[in-house]
Amino acid sequence: MYIVLLGPPGSGKGTQGQMLSTKLNIPHLSTGDLFREILDNPKHELYESLQVIKEGKLVSDDVVNKVVGGSLRDPRFEDGIIFDGYPRTIAQAQALDQELESIGKAVDVVIDIHVTKEVLLGRLLGRRSCPNCKRIFHVSQGISECPDCQITLIQRPDDNEETILERFDEYQTKTAPLQEYYRQSRTNYIVIKVFESSRTADSVQQEVWDRLYGLGLVK
Ligand code: ADP
Ligand code: ZN
Repeated sequence: MYIVLLGPPGSGKGTQGQMLSTKLNIPHLSTGDLFREILDNPKHELYESLQVIKEGKLVSDDVVNKVVGGSLRDPRFEDGIIFDGYPRTIAQAQALDQELESIGKAVDVVIDIHVTKEVLLGRLLGRRSCPNCKRIFHVSQGISECPDCQITLIQRPDDNEETILERFDEYQTKTAPLQEYYRQSRTNYIVIKVFESSRTADSVQQEVWDRLYGLGLVK
């Protein structure tokens, strides 16, 4: 099954993607995580082209396609992929559709997570993550080490207010048009609304699951 997670920065794509990945036993592919790994290695050929991330700008479609392209043919991804942070532009969505079509597949469902700006800001400013397993936490949990890896949690350098606002802007202008793109192509489309900061990831996951069930995509 090929799932596309759509939603602004901080909407919970990463958390929901990881949870779905465990339940469905389908790999979770986060372009943001892939890029951050490259940014740890200044000798990588794409290192310079990824510097825009620090300003909250999107990476160019060419570079994104270079990193993601081909992964569909990787045997690890044979049973499907949960895409997190990809596609983020119409051009990327078209490239993905073509790639999938060439192997006789298609995007099975888009999960679009709507979250209010206040909730997003609170989450992003307090977000911490494990540099090893990428698990996501929040300062309010009062945890400073990953319980699985025993490594100190880190804050992403792009989780500061200025960069966050730029990322929201990029989302509105370049990624939000994908809503219309997928609706026009009649792809299964789920909207999840998260309007209270007290809403837990588990309750969002339950709603996602119920909706997937309703579409006959899970049992
Ligand atoms: P978030 O959703 O919180 O912004 P991500 O980890 O998904 O975080 O992405 C971090 C950054 O990586 C983005 O702000 C963007 O600069 C870059 N990026 C990730 N995926 C893509 C993509 N598909 N196209 C262009 N840029 C991307
Ligand atoms: Zn960890």
